[in-house]
Amino acid sequence: MNSLSERLHDVWHDLPEGVRLVAVSKFHPAEQVMEAYEAGQRIFGENHAQELAAKAAMLPDDIEWHFIGHLQTNKVRMIASYVSLVHSVDSLRLLREINKQAQKNERILRCLLQLHVAQEETKFGFTPEEMLQMLAEGEWKSLENIRLCGIMCMATNTDDTAQIHREFKLAHETFLKAKERFFADDDMFCEQSMGMSDDYPIAISEGATLVRIGTRIFGPRNY
Ligand SMILES: *Cc1c(COP(=O)(O)O)cnc(C)c1O
Repeated sequence: MNSLSERLHDVWHDLPEGVRLVAVSKFHPAEQVMEAYEAGQRIFGENHAQELAAKAAMLPDDIEWHFIGHLQTNKVRMIASYVSLVHSVDSLRLLREINKQAQKNERILRCLLQLHVAQEETKFGFTPEEMLQMLAEGEWKSLENIRLCGIMCMATNTDDTAQIHREFKLAHETFLKAKERFFADDDMFCEQSMGMSDDYPIAISEGATLVRIGTRIFGPRNY
């Protein structure tokens, strides 16, 4: 079996210019994060607040920690000083809480809005219409300690690649609409976080700028 570093290099090799890797280290120990770090990886993704905070406290300061899972409002304060990008903002209420905790930490927190484009009911996020509506209502503009930087989505877990293409395309089109209507002059609204171990090549073909890959790098997780 290939080493972690070889698998990491294989993934890097697949990424065109302009697409960055979020190495999803959830459920893997800090030693494995260090191994990837020593190979040169700097962006890591976690989906539990406690785990992100614990790893961030013990690992090098130049790691960029991204939060990628469903975030409960009462957990925001645990990660507010550590996280550099929250991928999974799925309500205005959560955005308000992130703003509040960012303010307490005297920083600006970058956020992506999670879009629900998959068939599965369990996946969180705004529908495209809900997201555009929320942006149109404009309250987000008054939240001075958050910065909206783009969208995130997950596709349905299926072998039907045409369906996966359709879902990422819908997310991409929604990103473009939001960009045109609300962020035309804002260069920071530029990220499309789409694609995981099994579907990242499709996501890249549909416009991904960030891919979130765990299993392909770290192996299976023991939940
Ligand atoms: C776990 C997770 C990933 C990584 O999934 P893999 O299939 O292991 O690559 C990506 N995105 C989110 C939101 C996740 O929770």
